Amino acid sequence: MAIKEETKMEKIISLSKRRGFIYQGSEIYGGLAGTWDFGPYGVELRNNIKNLWWRKFVLDRDDMYGVDAAILMNQNVWKASGHVGGFSDPLVECKKCKHRFREDQLDEENRKSKKCPDCDGLLADARQFNMMFKTNVGAVEDEESISYLRPETAQGMFVNFKNIMDSFHPKLPFGLAQIGKAFRNEIAPRDFVFRSREFEQMEIEYFVDPRDSTKVNETFEALYKDQIDFLKVIGLDDSKIHKIEVPDSDRAFYSKRSVDTEFDFPFGQKELLGIAYRTDHDLKAHINSSKVDLSYFDEETKERIVPHCIEPTFGLDRLMLAVLSDAYTEDEIDGEKRVYMKFSHSIAPVKVAVFPLLKNKPLLVEKAKEIFNLIKKEFSSKGINGVVFDDNGNIGKRYRRQDEIGTPYCVTIDFETIEKDAGVTVRERDGGKQERVEIGKLVEYLSKSI
Ligand code: ATP
Repeated sequence: MAIKEETKMEKIISLSKRRGFIYQGSEIYGGLAGTWDFGPYGVELRNNIKNLWWRKFVLDRDDMYGVDAAILMNQNVWKASGHVGGFSDPLVECKKCKHRFREDQLDEENRKSKKCPDCDGLLADARQFNMMFKTNVGAVEDEESISYLRPETAQGMFVNFKNIMDSFHPKLPFGLAQIGKAFRNEIAPRDFVFRSREFEQMEIEYFVDPRDSTKVNETFEALYKDQIDFLKVIGLDDSKIHKIEVPDSDRAFYSKRSVDTEFDFPFGQKELLGIAYRTDHDLKAHINSSKVDLSYFDEETKERIVPHCIEPTFGLDRLMLAVLSDAYTEDEIDGEKRVYMKFSHSIAPVKVAVFPLLKNKPLLVEKAKEIFNLIKKEFSSKGINGVVFDDNGNIGKRYRRQDEIGTPYCVTIDFETIEKDAGVTVRERDGGKQERVEIGKLVEYLSKSI
């Protein structure tokens, strides 16, 4: 059933709140713009995405080193990286309604005519607005104590390059990987979790030998392919994914090549993730600023080089939104309208929900609890979470709820289960098909596709 794109976002936002995925940050105090809190199913969905990412990019490889650097860093890190001087967006303010916009995000007409998109008032000239959140560390608030909430996870890896070299003596090529929060004082946070002020990144700094440019290009291509493969792992629709070669004019001056991956969100085709060939820009900047040697010694040629870096970067919140908008489906079963989240089984926050047909029949409840514990124990031994017991409301309501949570399987225990030892009813999410399955074969049946 086709859903109007403009109303789809409202439906996703409302389902996210209703079903415990995403809440507005500090909601009972009127909220804090650009911040979001994740409820139980939001956390599970994010954890599933993060775990699959960590497995693919760190655990299943022998050339990747995981780190988890501090969010607060010495201010000199951000001076060296160029963020203190230049991490800014062009801010324009309407003289009439005082609303603020990012100049580069205005549409062509408003930008040229300097007209406010909200009230048609006149927009003032643009000024650069630094997006880092500043704070002070320690009891004294002076120049020395200034620190920043990191605006990206990348620098936490560059400053640990030497630590990893000293502890593990890796040979090029190798990478550092990190998942963590980043903070940007965005001028205009918008589109739900697409552009927020606190968000989470999953990034890799992959170091290569610059003397072999063919190999460098091959590595870039391979990492790009890994990024796209990951989108398949989490089940995103291929046809909504677009490759954008970023032209020279739009690239950071140090980047030799950048490829953005854009996705068809309900509000348009927008950046989901990216990959950039950052050359030796970052390591050189930190060598110059810290005076610490961050070079690499090639044992074979006896040469000292500064490795180049390729950076694949993922935004977890944009992935989450892509997954939510891709999964949101409306259809009809037996003449009744329903909404369900067609999550890939690998990331669904709940995999199996177990119901007693009636909640006021102790025998049914007892049997359902027994089966729930059995599935939970077996799944847990395979490292799978997300088995829940649900006896709230009538069976129809429970199906509707689990559909909206995106639960692939619902298992119902009824009188025939107990009286005739006739197994249980398993209902599959997407087609709504119901099948009777023997209890002895239940775990195997459910595990097949999860
Ligand atoms: P944009 O142009 O949309 O502001 P960017 O090019 O500045 O993004 P990067 O600095 O390359 O973004 O950040 C890497 C990734 O982090 C992005 O691809 C995106 O997934 C995510 N990201 C960046 N800014 C935000 C934000 N404000 N809210 C949520 N995710 C973000």
